[in-house]
Amino acid sequence: MHLAIVGGSDAGISAALRARELDPEIDVTVVVADSYPNFSICGIPYLVSGEVGDWRHLAHRSIAELEGAGMTLRLDTTARHIDVAGRRLHVGAEDGAEDVLVYDKLVVGTGAVPVSPPIDGLVGPDALGHADGVHLLHSMGDTFAILETLERTAPSSAAIVGGGYIGIEMAEALATRGLAVTQMEQLPDVLPTLDVELGALVRGELEDHGVEVLPATAVRRIGVAPPGAAGRLRVDATGAGGAALARDVDLVLVVGGVRPETGLAARAGAQLGAKGAIAVDRGMRTTLPDVFAAGDCVVTHHRLLGETYLPLGTTAHKQGRVAGENAVGGDRYFAGSLGTQVVKIFDQVASRTGLRDGEARAAGFDPVTVAAEADDHKAYYPGSHRIAMRVTGDRSSGRLLGLQLVGHRHAEVAKRVDIAATALFHEMTVDAVSDVDLSYTPPLGSPWEAVQMGAQAWVRAGVTAR
Ligand SMILES: Cc1cc2nc3c(=O)[nH]c(=O)nc-3n(C[C@H](O)[C@H](O)[C@H](O)COP(=O)(O)OP(=O)(O)OC[C@H]3O[C@@H](n4cnc5c(N)ncnc54)[C@H](O)[C@@H]3O)c2cc1C
Repeated sequence: MHLAIVGGSDAGISAALRARELDPEIDVTVVVADSYPNFSICGIPYLVSGEVGDWRHLAHRSIAELEGAGMTLRLDTTARHIDVAGRRLHVGAEDGAEDVLVYDKLVVGTGAVPVSPPIDGLVGPDALGHADGVHLLHSMGDTFAILETLERTAPSSAAIVGGGYIGIEMAEALATRGLAVTQMEQLPDVLPTLDVELGALVRGELEDHGVEVLPATAVRRIGVAPPGAAGRLRVDATGAGGAALARDVDLVLVVGGVRPETGLAARAGAQLGAKGAIAVDRGMRTTLPDVFAAGDCVVTHHRLLGETYLPLGTTAHKQGRVAGENAVGGDRYFAGSLGTQVVKIFDQVASRTGLRDGEARAAGFDPVTVAAEADDHKAYYPGSHRIAMRVTGDRSSGRLLGLQLVGHRHAEVAKRVDIAATALFHEMTVDAVSDVDLSYTPPLGSPWEAVQMGAQAWVRAGVTAR
């Protein structure tokens, strides 16, 4: 049994580990386009900030550990063509060598690539790039390019185009390195995956740490700044109210989201689905025989929305594990995403799970969202913090649909959103959240856990029958 896997990140390595775990006799070959298998790219902001001192520390596992787990790694090797009928994978190494791998089952985990928004100077023949101090960010290669610019040009200022979670993490990283950072987001506030009431708290935290935040600002052009300007690059934008504005900075980082990397599978005839990602069933089977796919390159089954595209590392791990299990004859299903996510912004943490009001309405629910606040632990014990919440539930059924939380980094916000994720997974009503037996001691919590206080605020609002 030969299992070939394309992609050496969260999805591909999870598939390889699971397959070997279930069948230690199986021959597993992982083809990786770069030299960095099983790297935690989620940790890149903390490498750039300097909090992680050595890039090698971002490896979930070393190459020796991966090989020790029984997989053969073909690094710096790109999968170019899948011969579906012949079950052959054509690959090309960086040194020009071509090879063909015969497989019984294939897992595609080609991930995602960063989107280049249609900004003058970023796309087109005169596009600026690494040498000019203009960067995109997704891979370890992108990261080394940014680190090289930081070393070579010693920039004193940066503009970050995009205020999503990666943009915010990078704003913190570059500010921590001492750069003056301007963050530009075209939507009404940063972290647009949260309601604006909570996005405003995130903006406040960035501003408290010296980041200039420009919401409702669409970047039109990135160019070389004129001589004598305060920075090497000029970023032209249209700000709130339509006014033109410009910032001169030494480094520009564009973080405008990702798109699925589907070329290999699509050329072989795989059907595509939401946002152009590879269509898979819940067993991570593509429409091609003996070909599975997982991670950022595939559509996401969402427990409340059905098929969507929601690329996250947590999801890639789970889908990869399912693909690996099924590739060796298992019958496992990806249980579905809830879009649960969390981000640290200096001393604050923002998180969400499930749906926000507008998303729930678009999906056919009758949502009501209630704002609430609670202490993370008893206020009489030193160091307590308030947590801001927005609880979304369905008016007619009372079902919990989503929770958003913002609070101090020591307020256990991440694990608190996970309480709601668990409740959502089990389709609980908002009211029933109060019935769950959760732990309590004054230095760490309250008799009514903060999420239960939020649930009770939603019920008290009287928007639904019990
Ligand atoms: C800065 C940053 C921070 C993040 N933070 C978080 C976070 O905190 N939490 C979270 O859940 N998610 C986070 N993510 C998202 C998460 O990293 C991704 O969802 C996850 O890495 C997806 O894994 P993947 O295996 O599907 O694909 P990718 O990580 O995109 O990897 C794709 C792999 O395929 C290889 N490849 C592609 N094409 C070929 C080919 N033709 N031949 C051979 N190899 C090929 C690549 O070399 C790579 O090994 C973050 C992402 C970034 C960039």
